[in-house]
Formats: sequence, structure tokens, C-alpha cells
Amino acid sequence: MATGPAQAMLSVPAESLRGVVTAAWAGPTISPQSVKSCTPAGERFLKAGAVTLGRRAARLRAVMARRGGSGGVSAFLGVAVLRPVVLPGGLSFVITHSVKKPSAQSLLDWYDRHRRTLPWRAEAGQHADPYAVWLSEIMLQQTTVKAVGPYYHRFLEKFPTVQALAAADRDEVLSAWAGLGYYSRARNLHACAQQVVALGGFPKDVAGLRALPGVGAYTAAAVAAIAFGVPVVPVDGNVERITARLFAVEEPLPAARKTLAALAEGLNTDKAAQARPSDFAQALFDLGASLCSPRSPACGLCPWRESCAAQKAGIAATLPRKAPKVARPVRYGAHFLVMDAAEQILLRKRPETGLLAAMTELPGTDWRSERWSEAGALAQAPCTASWQACGVVRHVFTHFTLEVTVYAARVQHFSNHVAQTGFLAPAERVAGLSLPSVMLKCIKLGLKAL
Ligand code: SF4
Repeated sequence: MATGPAQAMLSVPAESLRGVVTAAWAGPTISPQSVKSCTPAGERFLKAGAVTLGRRAARLRAVMARRGGSGGVSAFLGVAVLRPVVLPGGLSFVITHSVKKPSAQSLLDWYDRHRRTLPWRAEAGQHADPYAVWLSEIMLQQTTVKAVGPYYHRFLEKFPTVQALAAADRDEVLSAWAGLGYYSRARNLHACAQQVVALGGFPKDVAGLRALPGVGAYTAAAVAAIAFGVPVVPVDGNVERITARLFAVEEPLPAARKTLAALAEGLNTDKAAQARPSDFAQALFDLGASLCSPRSPACGLCPWRESCAAQKAGIAATLPRKAPKVARPVRYGAHFLVMDAAEQILLRKRPETGLLAAMTELPGTDWRSERWSEAGALAQAPCTASWQACGVVRHVFTHFTLEVTVYAARVQHFSNHVAQTGFLAPAERVAGLSLPSVMLKCIKLGLKAL
């Protein structure tokens, strides 16, 4: 992993760091902020870093950057890993190995040859459409490129511009989104489009984009870099993985997230990256999606293999490390499919806030941590009927797994009282309603039993 005598290569004597680290040594960890606040070390400074302390050893990983004339960072030099040494004067650190900065130009050259063709991506040399970039980035959150493709095309056909999306009915937007999951994205998408139209267009900087509904730090940086050429690195899972490998960061996620973000930001200080921010961000995405894949990175083909510490150490496929997952809790519910002689089924709207807000569902019970007994569930059925248990639908949400017992029944017709608890829809048309996937699964199971 070592790329040579670090002090010589980086010209950062351990002594210049001694005061810095000693000053920040207060507990089991030193946050990037605390290191940052102790920065000046001659011409160079510790831009960000993290210390992990073991019983006998501590390691500091820090981005070594050169301070520019105006106080900003003008050059990113590499990363140093330091080892503590107890000296008579106190605790000091020596650099054990360093990682050379990878060349942005090599990555861009690779990108020019191997860039992916994506529906929302501008042709080489063309300007990206902010609406297309924003829409695709929102759709791609928690969803794969392959799954997003058809939805993206359908969405653009229906709402070809941000103005068309803003003017649409919210239920129409939810319907077009149905099946993509994480429905708060669709609600925010609609609210965001209205705000963009009110503003007269998309803001062109990260802060302005970040202030829009549903736009987080990553999406703001992605739209700013890709659509407006702002020199920032959007840090998603792909970029975290590449960065963890380039610098052999063995600290597990999510604790390593700040360190990885600081390291990723350092990649962008290269002149070649600054000259083509849009391409550089997309080149990182493409590298992560193709060669630097999660399980089996194709390092032999990688433009950054010469400077990749994890590749040299033979640990690329094991990074980034992840903290053990906590088991996802299970919640239980029961939903009821009831159909009349005209083949209409009873549906209702979910509340305006909370999970699957404002989406359509079959009438049912709460979702709770305790299983529902049959008697307990049927006590909440929407009407009296010969209910038949059809089976269980399992659906995984981000924070819990839902198990829904589905009951189905036929009635001759719905009384006014029952129909007014929700609304009736022809069973054959439910696919066109804004139904979340879990409800589509329940309806399918219920209809099969009738
Ligand atoms: S050399 Fe391998 S691990 Fe390193 S960035 Fe390239 S593909 Fe990823």
C-alpha cells in the first residue's frame, strides 16, 4: 500500500503535525471538524481526517492539501496514514504510508472512451437539461438504472417540461410514479416543480438547489455539477465505494461517511476535474457502476489502478466495510378486498402525512408490531361478508418488513354507508390508480381467491 517514504513525497514532516494532533487528542475519536480547526501546518494543512484509536495504536487518515493564495485549497496532494509514537515531549505521529492523488485526466480519458449512454444524459459536448438531470436523480434514489428507464420515459411523455409537471394534478403524478416506491419522492417532485416554476427556473448553485423540496445534499451536488458545471463531487454509494478503495479506508460505514466525503472532495481539486465538472462527476458514477463494482472490481481495466491503495493491498473487493446491520423489525396488518356484482372494489385514501401518504389502499387495520388474530382483524373489516383468508403478502420497507394478511369477499352491492368509507373502482382499472406496490400485491392475491 505504501507508495514510498511519505515525508519525502508529501514534504510533510511529522513534526508539523505533532501539535495539531496532540491538540485535538481528546477522546476515542477525532472528528474531521476538530482536525480541520487545527489546520495550519506550514504551507499545508490537514483538510479533514479521522482518528481511530485502538488499545495499542491509533491511526490518522488525513487529506493533505496545499492552501491556495486566497486561503482555499488549490491542490490535493494525497492521503497520509499516521501512527502514534510516544515521545518524552508527548504524543506524536509518524506517517506510515501515503496514497498518491489519482489523476482526473486519466479518469476523463477513460470516460471519453467508455461513457454509458443513458436516456437522461446529454451527448458528449452537449449541455445537460436540468429538468432531465433532476428528474432522473430523484428517480434513481433507492432505485436501479434498469428499473428507472421505463418510468423515466413514461414520465417525460406525460410531463415533458417542469412547467407541465407543476401544472399536473398531484394524483396524476402519483399514478405515473406508482410502482417506483418511496412515494414521498413523487409528492416532493410535484412540490419542487411548482417551486422551480415560481422561481423562473432551477437555481444554478448547490445552496439554491438544496433548498428545494426533496433535494438533499447529494442530489443538489449532482444537478449542480451535471447540469450547471459547478465543480463539486456528488457523493453517492458509488463514489463512496471508489473513494474507500482508492484510499484504503477500512473504517466501516456509516461512521466513515464524513471522511469519505472529504476524500472525494479532494479528488476534485485537480485542474482537469475543475475544467470538466459535469463529465468528472459522471465519470465517477460510470466507474462505480462498471469497473469498480461492489463485489468484483475489474481493477485490471481501471484508469486509477496505479494509485489505488486497496488494489495494491489486495483488499479492494472487501471495501467499503459496513457496520453489521440491525435486524429490520416486522409489522403486521390485514387488508380487505371486497368486490360487488359489477366487479367494483372498495378502496380508500391513506392519510396526507406519514408512510405512503395520500396513496390509495384497500381498507385495513393499522400496521403494528403484534400479529392480528383473525377475530381482531375481521372486527375491522369494512362490511359484513363471508371473508376468506387468501394468504400473506410480505413487503420490505426501509425501516421495517410488513406482513399483510389479505381477506377477500364478494357482496351483491355496496350500501351507501360502506361506499362512503372510501370510493369504488372497477377491479380491471386498479393498475391506473396511484396504488403502492404492496397494495397491488394484496389486490392480486385477493382477486385470485375470488
Ligand atoms: S483499481 Fe479497482 S478498486 Fe481501485 S478504483 Fe479502480 S476498480 Fe476500484
